[in-house]
Amino acid sequence: MVVLKFGGSSVATIEMIDAILDIVQQRLDEAPVLVSSAMGKTTDRLVEATESAAHGDRDGYQRVYSELRAAHEDTVGRIADTAIRERAAGRLADQFDEVQALLTGVYLIQECSPRTRDAVLSFGERLATEIVHARACERGIDSLLLDSRDLIRTDDEFNAANVEFTETKKRIQAHVTPTAGRVIVLQGFIARTADGVTSTLGRGGSDYSASIIAAALDAQKMEIWTDVDGIMTMDPRIVPEARTVDSMSYDEAAELAFFGARVVHPSTIQPAVDRRIPVYVRNTRDPDRAGTRISGTADEEGPRALASKSPTTVITIHSSRMLNAYGFLARIFAIFERHRLSVDVVATSEVSVSVTLDDPPDLSGLVSDLAQFGRVEREDDQALICIVGNRLWRRSETVARVFDALRDIPIRLISLGSSDVNLTLIVPSDSLQRAVRTLHNTLFVP
Ligand code: ASP
Ligand code: MG
Repeated sequence: MVVLKFGGSSVATIEMIDAILDIVQQRLDEAPVLVSSAMGKTTDRLVEATESAAHGDRDGYQRVYSELRAAHEDTVGRIADTAIRERAAGRLADQFDEVQALLTGVYLIQECSPRTRDAVLSFGERLATEIVHARACERGIDSLLLDSRDLIRTDDEFNAANVEFTETKKRIQAHVTPTAGRVIVLQGFIARTADGVTSTLGRGGSDYSASIIAAALDAQKMEIWTDVDGIMTMDPRIVPEARTVDSMSYDEAAELAFFGARVVHPSTIQPAVDRRIPVYVRNTRDPDRAGTRISGTADEEGPRALASKSPTTVITIHSSRMLNAYGFLARIFAIFERHRLSVDVVATSEVSVSVTLDDPPDLSGLVSDLAQFGRVEREDDQALICIVGNRLWRRSETVARVFDALRDIPIRLISLGSSDVNLTLIVPSDSLQRAVRTLHNTLFVP
């Protein structure tokens, strides 16, 4: 069996739903389980509605509610088969009535607990899957709609609940029977506590739902269908020559994820990867492309992709007391800990330590606390470039090519070798664009 997960943009309109059903229809022999997100920006809008209601903005929440209701009704209205349309429309109406009741409650008490918020947010996926299922039925696809809340069991940390894996696996195996020739339609994101209360796995949680289901059913593969071609060698807004990476390891994807906006968050696909189920990222608008394959082990070595982060600040502590002293780094890092600042890159010499901080707030307290160790230097407007690839530094040739490409760029810091899949450089922000483009084209454009 295969798990096909479709993100919000892939189910945003009836045309998109038809496009995903084209994909599903061609894959029916593989016993597909379809996991869907909420349509388009529905979840964001539900958040907006709960916040308006909690702030006593009656017009605000009612406007959002009416817009969402109208959009879903329009979509379902495009179903031509009268019986199927009316049944789906009736179910949507019931769900929207519940949303309205919940929002009215939030408005009246002007307070929205995490638990209530999850109840409201859960409707995005529930509404979307009603429509997907109805459209599948209209197209003559054998479709079974189940409720993921009956499958995924969590604790009561609402808004980002923790999955109870043993119970979840048992439920999935008991209730989901993938069959060739039929699609099983499930909601991402939503779950239930042991007391039967609706919970969610946290924003963007549908990938996680899909990988939990893939793992429990030992899927042949899991595919995340989205609106990009896969994971790119670099953000194409910065480097227009960027192209799709065919395959990468889980560790490489994890390194890239740290840089944000990276299509999939590795922690969400961990359950699948742990079971050695390959995960593909594919584009719904261009289904002929293979996308990116992420798997537990790396088959290739060498540079795979670049990422960058800007601005970043470099803090350097110079101190001759560090020479041959023990516990020095520990005392320095204790200060970062006290200020709750997370350090990205560290480089040390015998008499100095440099660290980078991502987009830091006011650092004056930190700098004065660090001054007890020696002279503190602060450099703002720096940028971090990360080259990701398996066994990156095993071949000195790669390192040589990197530095050769950056011959004209002032490099402030280097961190190589701590993870085997990552080489990080710090350059001034105003050289970032030039540096990543040169580097990218040296490493990835033949
Ligand atoms: N609809 C949820 C969200 O937008 C879950 C998801 O899309 O993965 O956060
Ligand atoms: Mg979404």
